[in-house]
Amino acid sequence: MEIFDSHLHLAQSSDLNWSFAKLTENMRLADVSGGLIICNQNDAWDFEQVGELVGLNRNFKLAISPDLNVSTRALGKAIKNWKRVGAVALKIHPRIQKTNLQSRQVDNLVRQAQDLNMPIVICSFNDGSWSRIGMTNMQFLKLADDFPGVKFLWAHAGGHSVLDFMFMARRVPNVFLDTSFTQSYFFKGAVLENLNYATESLKNRFMFGTDFELDSYPESVRRLSDFYLSHNLDRTAFFAGNYKFFLGINE
Ligand SMILES: [Zn+2]
Repeated sequence: MEIFDSHLHLAQSSDLNWSFAKLTENMRLADVSGGLIICNQNDAWDFEQVGELVGLNRNFKLAISPDLNVSTRALGKAIKNWKRVGAVALKIHPRIQKTNLQSRQVDNLVRQAQDLNMPIVICSFNDGSWSRIGMTNMQFLKLADDFPGVKFLWAHAGGHSVLDFMFMARRVPNVFLDTSFTQSYFFKGAVLENLNYATESLKNRFMFGTDFELDSYPESVRRLSDFYLSHNLDRTAFFAGNYKFFLGINE
């Protein structure tokens, strides 16, 4: 079965080549064909450096999460530059960027993404700190409603609110979700069952993702693919098809 991973990070080290080799090796051991590497603004390297490396390997795609506290003009220029070095998607990480989804900065980023036809990944895992930055679940739906021409990926599928996020996604055709982090964080209990149910229930919008756990990666992928395959359903869309559709990959 072909597997793509919608949520990869490079292990933070001083040596980007080492991190990239480690990721590639782990993916090979786990039989994962490729995936979306996400770089955050506090990562150890320049986006350009990562873009060059990712560009050499056609199985990977790159998403970047930029510093939003710059002028509209500077952000626009920077995004065009990252797109040129290979970024295919942008990411909003409200907790790290200290912004909720109603801010001027977010509006600015999404408008730029719309103009450049780039999809947007948004971290949707509420770790308990959302109230501090004025984040609510409803803001995700509102943003997707306001920008129907932009494809959004709600990474981590809303965490413990997975059913709410699955139902919201039903109302907006431009939204996708991934299972990353949530499936590993809630290793037992109702959330895990709800997540599995949600992936079956909205099967053309959910994608498989891990959040890359360094040495345990092959083991995690095997455990998770067993978990999602246990009901003997056709999971092609979940493991590969929706990922390709979201990123506009045609083979
Ligand atoms: Zn992540």
